[in-house]
Amino acid sequence: MREPRDVLVRFHEIALKGRNQGRFVTQLVDNLRRATAGLGVRRVWSERMLVRMRLDDAADWEAVRERVATVFGGVKFSLAHEVACNYDAIAATVGELADARSFETFRISARRADKRFPLTSAEMNIKLGDMVRERHSARVDLRHADLDIHVDVLAKTAFVYTDEHAGAGGLPVGTGGRVAVLMSGGIDSPVAAWRMMRRGCQATLVHFHSFPLVEGRSREKARELAEKLNAYQYDTRLLMVPFASLQQQLILSVPGPLRVVAYRRFMVRIAEVLARREGAKALVTGESLGQVSSQTLQNIATVDEAAGMPLLRPLIGMDKQEIIAQAEEIGTFETSILPDEDCCTLFVPRSPSTAVRLEEIARVEAELDVDALVRHAADAAELVEYHQGHSP
Ligand code: ATP
Ligand code: MG
Repeated sequence: MREPRDVLVRFHEIALKGRNQGRFVTQLVDNLRRATAGLGVRRVWSERMLVRMRLDDAADWEAVRERVATVFGGVKFSLAHEVACNYDAIAATVGELADARSFETFRISARRADKRFPLTSAEMNIKLGDMVRERHSARVDLRHADLDIHVDVLAKTAFVYTDEHAGAGGLPVGTGGRVAVLMSGGIDSPVAAWRMMRRGCQATLVHFHSFPLVEGRSREKARELAEKLNAYQYDTRLLMVPFASLQQQLILSVPGPLRVVAYRRFMVRIAEVLARREGAKALVTGESLGQVSSQTLQNIATVDEAAGMPLLRPLIGMDKQEIIAQAEEIGTFETSILPDEDCCTLFVPRSPSTAVRLEEIARVEAELDVDALVRHAADAAELVEYHQGHSP
């Protein structure tokens, strides 16, 4: 039996019902190419209800598998043996795969995309099942089989495989428009960015830093996080916004207890200016309700009022433990917990107000030239770019 060189990637069939089917699949194909660039994938293309990948003889399947598992839009994928489209060839490969494994229970999962094939899926399940049962002292268990042998019959070819791997789910990055994610160096906001990417959005990352008021390690963390997140979206624009001089001006007129909310309202306004320049349709933060004083419902409402476009909070209903688990899974946690200086704690009393009302903050902001301050900070933003695979 030859080494298997074909990968079958299944996607969400629900997403295929709409008018966007073509665009969705094309994007998935392109993203799979970019995610696996340099790993010996010779070709990626779509065929009916699946995406196919063909590996070079030298390709390292473990490396390819790791990357394919991160591509949004893929639900399940397998490394499959391609066989001729006739029962004898299929049966021979099923037999060999069964011989190579030890198992007490098994099932055959046949699927016939081409109805011209002489046997129905049910007939193949029975016939192949009988054959395996004769050669091994194993019984069929449809629910908890030790070994599940899949047979997929397409129009001109057939595939046999045993192991199915979980894909990343969601929708292909690039199909959902662009968002601007306010990304600190913390645990939460990188997870928020990942969650938006998983729904198909391309994320521009906006990081505010207080360099040179503080050492500036948050900038390095932001770069490292951007690089890690880039593995999920293949093109990443990170905007580094100097926030120190604005903070120095704000402390002159904003009372201590209001400062966190004031900083946040300015961040939102600056991010909105940058978002419009980026063609982004919404802002995203990593807030989760009640996690810290600035994330009470009252303060969230007061911050929201400063935004002129939707301000999305994909983590709003998550517990810290759940967010940490997700950060570990997507690979950002280790960077996020490196020590740094949070610019939002600069010049802030130990117990900031948990309930800043809009009237209070509006009175203070009325003394400031808000538009000029916002524009000045936005214009000072520095761009860092990351790419993976080919660049369009
Ligand atoms: P995180 O873990 O994302 O830092 P947090 O739990 O520390 O969040 P806050 O400090 O209240 O919470 O920040 C709330 C949100 O505000 C962050 O998730 C992020 O979206 C945004 N934010 C805070 N600080 C910055 C920053 N320096 N640059 C960009 N966005 C920021
Ligand atoms: Mg933080």
